[in-house]
Amino acid sequence: MYRSHTCGSLRLTDAGQRVLLSGWVQVSRDLGGLTFVDLRDRYGITQLVFNMDTRPELCARARKLGREYVIRVEGVVRERTSKNPNRPTGDIEIDVDLLDVLNASKVPPFTIEADTDGGDDLRMKYRYLDLRREPVKRNLLFRGKLTLETRHYLDGQGFVEIETPFLIKSTPEGARDFVVPSRLNPGEFYALPQSPQTFKQILMVAGMDRYFQIVKCFRDEDLRADRQPEFTQIDCEMAFVSREDILRTFEGLTRHLFLKLLGIGLPEFPRMSYDEAMQRYGSDKPDLRFEMTIGDIGHLARGQGFPVFDQAGLVAGICAKGIADRYSNKDLNELTDWVRRPQIGAGGLVYVRFNEDGTIKSSVGKYFTDEQLRQWGTVFEAGPGDLLLVLSGEEEKTRKQLGELRLEMGRRLGLIQPGIFRPLWVLDFPLLEWDEESGRFFAMHHPFTSPKPEDVGLMDSTDREVLRRLRADAYDLVINGTEIGGGSIRIHDRALQSRNFSLLGFSTEEAEAQFGFLLGAFEYGAPPHGGIAFGLDRLCAVMNGQNNIRDFIAFPKNNTGRDMMIDAPSPIADAQWEELGLAPLPPRN
Ligand code: ASP
Repeated sequence: MYRSHTCGSLRLTDAGQRVLLSGWVQVSRDLGGLTFVDLRDRYGITQLVFNMDTRPELCARARKLGREYVIRVEGVVRERTSKNPNRPTGDIEIDVDLLDVLNASKVPPFTIEADTDGGDDLRMKYRYLDLRREPVKRNLLFRGKLTLETRHYLDGQGFVEIETPFLIKSTPEGARDFVVPSRLNPGEFYALPQSPQTFKQILMVAGMDRYFQIVKCFRDEDLRADRQPEFTQIDCEMAFVSREDILRTFEGLTRHLFLKLLGIGLPEFPRMSYDEAMQRYGSDKPDLRFEMTIGDIGHLARGQGFPVFDQAGLVAGICAKGIADRYSNKDLNELTDWVRRPQIGAGGLVYVRFNEDGTIKSSVGKYFTDEQLRQWGTVFEAGPGDLLLVLSGEEEKTRKQLGELRLEMGRRLGLIQPGIFRPLWVLDFPLLEWDEESGRFFAMHHPFTSPKPEDVGLMDSTDREVLRRLRADAYDLVINGTEIGGGSIRIHDRALQSRNFSLLGFSTEEAEAQFGFLLGAFEYGAPPHGGIAFGLDRLCAVMNGQNNIRDFIAFPKNNTGRDMMIDAPSPIADAQWEELGLAPLPPRN
């Protein structure tokens, strides 16, 4: 027998009991006649005591225990003289009379503590050690519970979990595919799914009515903190539903998860159109944890002899409340450098300081009178103490820059309180997005998204501007400025789907070759349907106030897409090349 209890379970009420514990040596300390060992397992840490006076031989053995040794001990629970209020087991310790070393351990390459000294790659190489650390372990347990609660909720709503294949067909639409050579069909490839999109729609045609799957998706994109080449979606689809049914069901799921996992009851989620989000927040995923919305001052600022504004498609700003006096010129210079960085790309930054004493100071004071500047202030209801920050330029770009500036100011001014969650639905995305470089439209969501019913007629237009304004019946769930999920009502009519493919630049033959199976299925009684997918890794990170999804994935990849532990990707043997009917690459020099 290895244990009667876990290292997290004993309390003062257990004092006097004889117990058996197994776990890892977190740390050991010799204090004169006593040796203390912190014994750790998944459930917690319990203090062990070895007494030199009463059991010298045992104590001598305990002194030789290294960090991360796996041991089994027997002893009696007793009250501690100096208690540790930060630990659930902090009132007790085990007076050990029996010690077995189950396995020794090399000295770990980084400390197994909440704050560790290991760099990212080192921690990933020894992921099994990293996962012993409390914060990472806690994240995985959180994730496990979240998937379980997701299944509970969706099961309660009549959803059925169905697996879809991982070896599918490559299509040029969307992100880059990971491909897998087929040995039995030399020269041909499968692709790993970017999402089960077409399969879940086919399941609706098949009459499954409510589908879900907690599923791996694969996208060969450049990596960032919130991206991994393989990630997990809570993927769902429903038949015979309106947008409203879907929003209600998945607002319900989100509420359920917040309540069960964090004990937080979220109020009803506000809704905002894509246009409004872009206008007020400069982003299609607005962070509603603070206000500071964008105000347009073009009508007041143009035509007054300041050429930069006169030529700009948009002159707009944000107002930072109450900081005019304490935001120094140095701060403003630094902020100007910040907006000029290539990642933001603004030409410059104009400010107006509404000082506490009623005076006004502005970087464009030469061009505008105090009265004019005060007029700008009215757009933001600016008062004494407020600071106006203005950007100008091409409309779409400038809005996005203002969105970034707003977030940066929120961060710099500490307006983002930890532990606050502000979810919202963003609705009515554009259906199509024009790509200047390739001279064609792309689907903003994906090619299976339905236009809003009232916009269907406009799909016959050949006018690019009309097509640009087409709205999709698509929605995103955003929490604290992060996109958690997205979905849409789908096209379920073959002719409309074909029309959409043609707007996206597919010839009839191309559409047939790539998506003929779906178009075919639509001819056999496809019900109206729609769905959504949540990014599970991201949801976990956001619910924990973090932005790195890696910390919620048991075995993540690094920035270059490498698994540091198993060292993948890796070359394959010549025989494998041959068997797959592939020509090996010429040797690298
Ligand atoms: N398949 C979509 C995605 O991966 C989600 C959906 O439309 O349901 O973004």
